[in-house]
Amino acid sequence: QLELDNLVKTFSDGSDEVVAVDTVNMSLNDGEFLVLVGPSGCGKSTTLRMVAGLETVTEGDILIGDESVIGTEPRDRDIAMVFQNYALYPHMTAEENMSFGLKMTTDLDTETIEQRVTETAEMMGIEDLLDDPPKELSGGQQQRVALGRAIVRDPAVFLMDEPLSNLDAKLRTKMRTELKSLQNELDVTTIYVTHDQTEAMTMGDRIAILDDGVLQQVGTPLECYHRPANRFVAGFIGSPS
Ligand code: ATP
Ligand code: MG
Repeated sequence: QLELDNLVKTFSDGSDEVVAVDTVNMSLNDGEFLVLVGPSGCGKSTTLRMVAGLETVTEGDILIGDESVIGTEPRDRDIAMVFQNYALYPHMTAEENMSFGLKMTTDLDTETIEQRVTETAEMMGIEDLLDDPPKELSGGQQQRVALGRAIVRDPAVFLMDEPLSNLDAKLRTKMRTELKSLQNELDVTTIYVTHDQTEAMTMGDRIAILDDGVLQQVGTPLECYHRPANRFVAGFIGSPS
């Protein structure tokens, strides 16, 4: 279970203060797929980065399984994050990319790591690409490696920041379905950031709609569509008026 408790992030920009995330409260059920949507600059990435520990928290708390993770290092959080730009290590093969985190953060033996990487690669359909460096892979293949690298760690929480936005429309639709069934199978609590309404409506168990750092509504896609909390939500989701 993942809980964001009155989460605030301010950036000071010279004499100006920017409130990027403004008192966000959210509670995810175990295994839930929550889609975080909102316009550019509304604070989606900042929220994920705080959960991952890549950004400090100005105020509030983040709980994973009832324990606060504030002040802990990213590697000590039971979390995996996937970015828009894949962020693979260029000098490593796909296999090394996938095993690196396990080698660094666990004391699993080489054989167990190898076995887990192979299983995950099969699940992602990249078992034939394991010896290739990222530059020899297509965008879709690189993103599969990045997703594989994240899930091979079997995290309690999975964070994805627009993971499909660099892919062409056809591949995006295909990966959407695959990602969703993978998440179902793994039953891992997930926050998925996108600014694509279609992705939000089709993938989310629930959607959280953020505007200017403030959470506008959290609900199932149907609830948000048929009973938008305000005009912003209605406009963003495209509810009938
Ligand atoms: P996008 O959809 O474009 O990725 P986003 O919802 O992910 O947008 P964030 O990147 O979280 O938005 O940014 C939220 C706000 O915080 C923006 O106003 C942004 O300019 C500001 N911001 C983000 N990072 C920093 C930083 N390191 N220093 C100062 N301001 C920042
Ligand atoms: Mg962002």
